[in-house]
Order: sequence, then structure tokens, then C-alpha cells
Amino acid sequence: MARYTGPVCRQCRREGVKLYLKGDKCYSDKCAFTKRSYAPGQHGQGRKKVSEYGIQLREKQKARRIYGILERQFRLYFEKAESQKGITGENLLVLLERRLDNVIFRLGLASSRIQSRQMVRHGHFTVNGHRVDIPSYLVKPGDVIQVKEGSKESPYFKELMETIGQKTVPAWLELSAQDLSGKVVRYPGREEIDVPIQEHLIVELYSK
Ligand code: SF4
Repeated sequence: MARYTGPVCRQCRREGVKLYLKGDKCYSDKCAFTKRSYAPGQHGQGRKKVSEYGIQLREKQKARRIYGILERQFRLYFEKAESQKGITGENLLVLLERRLDNVIFRLGLASSRIQSRQMVRHGHFTVNGHRVDIPSYLVKPGDVIQVKEGSKESPYFKELMETIGQKTVPAWLELSAQDLSGKVVRYPGREEIDVPIQEHLIVELYSK
């Protein structure tokens, strides 16, 4: 699956908000947005009047960037969300949260979704005992995600085992720190999805 390969921090500056895409660096004074909290480019510091369409577009771009999804795939998520019962915007966020790369990040097994995606691609995880190397794999309640036995010996996971017990995970997930595994208890509620997104703006954009 294709992915964005441009400068990562530029995306936060473009959206005017910290998107926390680079793990530990985002919490340090090395964060590019902390240093330059204006849009990139020659006119980045100019004041611009943004249209209603522009606001909706930015909200969609922000969501895409947080979850690391390209336009076409994002549209497919929206269509799926629309076909489900309930509130389309909330359905959309729940679908995005169910992605395997996001769940691994939420469990604290990776420090960012970018890192998580790379580790999934490299085959470090199993779901219900089977190796899954597709970051967009959608988990469901009851699924058990584990670090592959061989991968547990890597310095990264050995070090993680020392610290992961201190992490808190969302209530819809369960973490077993001793064996670096996690379980999906249920789907998340909207109030449990802590992303700075007003999903109704995305719905309005696609409904035009
Ligand atoms: Fe965004 Fe993190 Fe880069 Fe800061 S360090 S600009 S929060 S990706």
C-alpha cells in the first residue's frame, strides 16, 4: 500500500497543530512545530481567510495525516463508514482506530503510528496466532495481538518490556505487559478517541 514519503513534520506545520507523528521527538524541544508554528513555504506566515470548503478540507487532511492514509484509501473508509448504521463521522473514526498499526501504537508497542506501520510490515506481529503484515488490517473484539516470539529477542522489544508496564492504554484495549500482547475488548466509543478532529466537517466535505 502506498504511503506518504515527504517530510513528516511539515504536515503538522501545514495543519497548524501538533499531530504527534514522530514519537518521542514530538514531546521534546526538537519538535519542528514548537520551533516554527506557522505553515511551511514562502507565504506560510501570511494571514489568509479560509473558506468553509477550506476548513472542511483541512479537517480531512488532518485526519489522513494523523492515521497516515492516502486520499483514495481514506475515501474508501468514508464509504464504508457511510454504509454502516449509526453516525457516519463516528463510524469513520472507529474504522481508523481499528487499523492494526493504530492499535499497536495505542497499546504502546510503538511510539508512533509511523513506527508501528513499519514494524507491522516487517512482520513483527501476529493476530490470533497468525502473522499479519498488513498495517490496514482491521481488528475486531476478541482479537489478540502479539509480538512474534522471535522478535521479542530484539533489543527494541527487550527494552520495551522493561518500561511498557507504566503505560496506560485506552479502555477498549487490554495490555499484557509480561508477554507484550494486547486484546481488543470492544470497539472504541467516540469519547475514547483522542484525536483533534471534528469529523462532522469531513462528512460535510464528502457530502457536497
Ligand atoms: Fe509534528 Fe512530532 Fe514533528 Fe513536532 S516532532 S512537528 S509534533 S511530527
